Amino acid sequence: MCRINIHVLNSGVVIVDSELAFSTGESHNPLAFTGLFRSKVHEITLPVSAYLIEHPKRLVLVDTGCHTDVRNHMFSYLGPFLYLANKAYLPEGEAINEQLQKLGYKTSDIDKVVLTHLDCDHVSGLKLVADAKSIMVNNLEYDGAMGNPVRYKKSMWEGVPLKLFEYRASNEGIAHRSYDLYGDGVIQLVYTPGHSKGMCTVKITNNNKFILLTADCGYGSKSWNDLILPGLNYDKEEMLEALNWVQLQSEDSNCVAVIANHDATIKPHVISL
Ligand SMILES: [Zn+2]
Repeated sequence: MCRINIHVLNSGVVIVDSELAFSTGESHNPLAFTGLFRSKVHEITLPVSAYLIEHPKRLVLVDTGCHTDVRNHMFSYLGPFLYLANKAYLPEGEAINEQLQKLGYKTSDIDKVVLTHLDCDHVSGLKLVADAKSIMVNNLEYDGAMGNPVRYKKSMWEGVPLKLFEYRASNEGIAHRSYDLYGDGVIQLVYTPGHSKGMCTVKITNNNKFILLTADCGYGSKSWNDLILPGLNYDKEEMLEALNWVQLQSEDSNCVAVIANHDATIKPHVISL
């Protein structure tokens, strides 16, 4: 069978409180994950990944990294809350459109952009790739984001035609629900809620092997190995169930890799499946 290449691209970094990535529950401050009333010693710098799936017939982008606006006017772009909790930096050449160009692609070459969820560090670069053929986000995720103007910034997707998809019964994920992107089982958007209302993990299967792009189910392998939850959640029980599912998948002998969006150990590389 033909090979599929998955480019792991780092598109900027975010500076966050360590409680956001790996919640210890040790702080008495319920807003510790936002960095509010917390010392800078708790700050950590994490990459913001996006992924280009290169199938011989299709080009799929998963998440969009940081927008170039964070370079020049981060405060007005992010607003006061996100500026406090989630400062972003984007070096020259790391915006998603700049990286696609380096790989020899135009943004209009992308068949589908999949947004795993609508937090700003996943959707920020969307307007840089808005001329992709189709832009997809789950309907539950969209509803959750539209109902929470503190956490989400709808200006990042306003004016961009989003295609809402619904999860369907399948053998994947915590509720046996997923969305098969091309109906051939190769790219499954698996329902892994908890961090947000409708977040998906992207499972790519080819030649009897698979990888998981697990978005923010966890922030690194210790998250699913030791079941350490992120600090920000929509539903904590669902988040633990999702992380349990990721752990089981990671132990499968056909699993090549599980990659989180903000794993500090991840460097840009290409996986061939
Ligand atoms: Zn994130």
